[in-house]
Amino acid sequence: MNFLEERIIKDGAVKPGNVLKVDSFLNHQMDIELMDKMGEEFYNRFKDAGVTKVLTIEASGIAIACSVARCFGVPMVFAKKSKSVNIDGDVYVAEVESFTHKNVNKVIVSKKFLNPEDKVLIIDDFLANGCALQGLISITESSGAEVVGLGIAIEKGFQIGGRVIRNLGYKLESLAIVEEMDAEKGTVTFREQ
Ligand code: 5GP
Repeated sequence: MNFLEERIIKDGAVKPGNVLKVDSFLNHQMDIELMDKMGEEFYNRFKDAGVTKVLTIEASGIAIACSVARCFGVPMVFAKKSKSVNIDGDVYVAEVESFTHKNVNKVIVSKKFLNPEDKVLIIDDFLANGCALQGLISITESSGAEVVGLGIAIEKGFQIGGRVIRNLGYKLESLAIVEEMDAEKGTVTFREQ
């Protein structure tokens, strides 16, 4: 088991509805040393990709993306959830259905912060059905920039997102892939990588 898998076993909790709760170290209270370790791990996996920008979606992707961006020495941009309709056309927009909240959010990135020359590494905390990643891919490609990779902390391998993104030909790296989890027994099983 790697450092993240060990931490999930130690401090994660399985909730009904295929939700893994990791709010004591990843997406409410945050263990910054763990964020930095993940940043280094993603750096090692993507260091030859020519990354010029790290892109994530608010809120829980931001901390990991900061650590990754620091390792690469590039800016981090996060897609914002927006209620207002944009009339100036100065933002890229995508619609993202939230797995945890079951609603659809419009997410936006200002056109100022993504350029056709950019090589973008997309980072997020979780991958379930892949809506968040598809939205970030769509925003990146609307700008003419290239998606050079996607890095996920925890992929739920029994949901469809990972397969869809890999089948589209993207390089997707997940630090922990949950193969199975059981809310009644509280067990989590990881895919061998
Ligand atoms: P997707 O768009 O891939 O269906 O879901 C990804 C997003 O949903 C992530 O950004 C994350 O915030 C949230 N998410 C999905 N599954 C889980 C989960 O099991 N636990 C937590 N805490 N968040 C999740």
